[in-house]
Amino acid sequence: VILPPTFEVGTFHEDYKIDNTLGKGYFALVSRAVPKKSGVPVAVKIITKSRCVRKPKMLPSIIQEISILMSLEAHPCIMKIEKVYNEPDFIYLVLELVEHGELFDYITKSKLDEEKTRFIFWQLFDSINFLHKKGIVHRDLKPENILLANMDTLHIKLIDFGLAKEQQAGEKLVTQCGTPTYVAPEVLKHSSTRAYGKECDLWSLGVMLYICLSGYPPFDEAVGPPSMEEQIVNGIYSFDHSPWENISSEAKKLIRGLLTVDPDNRFTIHQAMNSPWMLMDIEGLKRRI
Ligand code: ADP
Ligand code: MG
Repeated sequence: VILPPTFEVGTFHEDYKIDNTLGKGYFALVSRAVPKKSGVPVAVKIITKSRCVRKPKMLPSIIQEISILMSLEAHPCIMKIEKVYNEPDFIYLVLELVEHGELFDYITKSKLDEEKTRFIFWQLFDSINFLHKKGIVHRDLKPENILLANMDTLHIKLIDFGLAKEQQAGEKLVTQCGTPTYVAPEVLKHSSTRAYGKECDLWSLGVMLYICLSGYPPFDEAVGPPSMEEQIVNGIYSFDHSPWENISSEAKKLIRGLLTVDPDNRFTIHQAMNSPWMLMDIEGLKRRI
């Protein structure tokens, strides 16, 4: 595999001082880092090359992440990449620092009302629309991969393009990936003959919307049988529990549109952006933008 030829000369540790750890993912350790000369703090995603030997899918996924992030023009809700250092034992991805933690932690601490959720999803739909127009499918949309840039305004940044894929015109994707809770039925059912496309991101957005409004996931192994996989491929979920009593029918309609098992009938990003729930409070949205 050939790495893109856009690496820094010198070493990461000559240029930056590592600070506290920000997060751990499946592949990488992410820390805060401060430039030694001057400048703004960054986040650095450190990939240990020796681990790539044991995990053969890891290096292609890192290369994919680097090349997609580098190819993207700036979008206010997508984390930027600044530099890459390719050193003998490690790869360092120097990233825009997003200071206020994962949306995951935020929603476990404070429940989101519809107005706040609408603003977060307005940003998410806008960034997914931006990616899909470029033929990029994120494939790993979940609250751990959405960071808060500002706790008060709820501005967010989408991160982690480790599973993202650039889809060529007409091409369908076949690799099974993503996180079970958020994974679309067609991705679970996939085979080399049954491929899937960008619709899988809209499913994950539906799962996240459900969680943000209710505080619990639509599909859950613990409430089965049926198993979580069976719940997902058959679209078995409900709005029966108490949090849903006070949630608008427009929000439920959007969730139903997104959690549609057949990807051909699922809401498109355009339908989601123009759904009655999204358009319900344009003034509220404008105040936040
Ligand atoms: P992986 O591909 O291994 O899942 P991620 O890119 O998702 O790695 O990073 C893992 C975690 O590190 C994230 O969930 C987040 O908590 C933290 N993190 C990643 N990028 C940044 C960033 N730019 N600013 C702040 N924290 C970050
Ligand atoms: Mg991640």
